Amino acid sequence: MKGEKYLFVVSGPSGTGKDTVVANLLKKHPEIQHTVSATTRPPREGEKDGINYHFMTRTDFEKHLAEDQIVEHTQYCGNYYGTLRSEIEGRMALGIPVILVIEVEGAGNIKRMYPGATTIFVLPPDMEELERRLRNRGTENEETIQRRLKRAETEIANSVDYDEHVVNVQVETCADSLYSIIQFRLKHGKDE
Ligand code: 5GP
Repeated sequence: MKGEKYLFVVSGPSGTGKDTVVANLLKKHPEIQHTVSATTRPPREGEKDGINYHFMTRTDFEKHLAEDQIVEHTQYCGNYYGTLRSEIEGRMALGIPVILVIEVEGAGNIKRMYPGATTIFVLPPDMEELERRLRNRGTENEETIQRRLKRAETEIANSVDYDEHVVNVQVETCADSLYSIIQFRLKHGKDE
């Protein structure tokens, strides 16, 4: 599909800091936009509907699925997460670079649907640092932390299929690496 090179998929284990890195990138480069996913997860403190996610009930989410308004979705730690078609296809057509921050299964599905998209995996410096960041965030209970850490190991092991990898040692530097990748792909990526 025309415009696939404008799609950038960013994944990384929970707690790796990918959202902070992407937020830093978007602040410095407002010509790049990001998608707002749909989820059935309850909002965390400070999260706003339509900004962080489109928060939905399971019934609502399943209705969107049945109506083919969601291009990829997954169940992650007991909740649905999905990318709305309306969040990506218009921007692809207009040539607006757009970033999806989604987990690995969704990234694989996007890459199969839009082979011209670029997938980028954000790695933590090491597993100890990942656990420290996840705990410092203070948003999850112990059971969820353990589930997320277990899932992180599998995700890292399967990340070889990504087009690009960056290590988040320091937010600014990592955001700059992401920007270099985006610039390169926009210049040299295939556009259909
Ligand atoms: P969190 O609950 O921490 O906000 O997100 C949990 C995981 O779901 C993260 O890895 C996040 O990137 C992923 N995620 C968020 N939105 C989507 C989406 O639309 N599709 C998929 N496949 N994963 C998503």
